[in-house]
Amino acid sequence: MSALLALIASGTAVTRTELAATCGLSRSTVTQRVNRLLDTGLVVEEGNGASEGGRPPTVLALAPGGGVLLAADLGATHARLAVAGLGGTVLAETDDDIDVDDGPEAVLGLVRDGWARLLGGLGAGVPDVRGVGIGVPGPVEFSTGTVVRPPIMAGWDGFRVPGFFTEHRDVPILVDNDVNLMALGEHRGARATEDSLLYVKIGTGIGCGIVTAGRLYRGGDGAAGDIGHIRLPGHEETVCHCGNTGCVEAVASGAALVQALRAGGLDVGTARDVARLAAEGNTAARRAVRVAAGRIGEVIAAVVSFHNPRVILVGGPFTAVGDEVLAEIKAVVYRRVLPLATRTLRVETGPLGGRAGIVGAIALAQEHALSPGALARWL
Ligand SMILES: [Zn+2]
Repeated sequence: MSALLALIASGTAVTRTELAATCGLSRSTVTQRVNRLLDTGLVVEEGNGASEGGRPPTVLALAPGGGVLLAADLGATHARLAVAGLGGTVLAETDDDIDVDDGPEAVLGLVRDGWARLLGGLGAGVPDVRGVGIGVPGPVEFSTGTVVRPPIMAGWDGFRVPGFFTEHRDVPILVDNDVNLMALGEHRGARATEDSLLYVKIGTGIGCGIVTAGRLYRGGDGAAGDIGHIRLPGHEETVCHCGNTGCVEAVASGAALVQALRAGGLDVGTARDVARLAAEGNTAARRAVRVAAGRIGEVIAAVVSFHNPRVILVGGPFTAVGDEVLAEIKAVVYRRVLPLATRTLRVETGPLGGRAGIVGAIALAQEHALSPGALARWL
């Protein structure tokens, strides 16, 4: 039943005939299971579809009042919050500035208040929530939602995020690294046909989310794609906040550019400031962004040799600078990687832009809200 529900929710199969064909089940089995879903009130019949001769088939849809999903995309300096329907449609969304270094209690308190306001505006409340998805800008042990030794996020080490939201303890609360959710968001929202995709975020930090064989790949413990602390040769004198030296994040991230440009007398405080200045044509900022893109390209080239993705999506504030960021990355990748891996490779800006993370958080919440375990609890 959970599989049928997921197909109806995603719009992949919305008639009994389509469900039977997609799942390889008999028509009578599908009818029986759809009837049970109709009895729960989770699914409704929504008029007729196109007829292929004979009586037009009845279209199934998730019930509008079936519940909602909560999502949060937390960055170093921003928090995007959303309430979505079970089908994934955004019903309300906000985007605010935060400082993740204020610690988990303060930041998650803001998230709780923000969600309550959004739910209230929709005439909904905690009992309507069916699943929660949260992205944070650091390493997460996915199985428990625990932040583990984050290079940024002061005060969050060892914090188990789901435990904070006691009001939602009866529904799945999933926590993942923000870049993983950006990769998931782009895959679900814009690139569902790509079965091999890398999402590289260049912001205050640098990270990579991996979609392989059509699914988000987290690795053994949730740390897959943490490319920010790969060492760049020739930068051994640069100390990284992780304690090592020469990490690409210490040399070429937004935070590194802020530091370098401030030392040069420019008034910049965040990666977005640097991106804005470069987009406005400031020569020093533009030059710094280009050099950084080339250095990040060295790491991306190694990742391409290892993973052979079909598409690399680049996200973060520097994509607003212009084509030269992608051009620098492409130049290094095409020079360093063997032709078989670059023959059909595309390097592009993530189509969802700054919304990739929240779309991914919604997708994560939805996946688990419609899982067999969650469904069994509802029934
Ligand atoms: Zn490092």
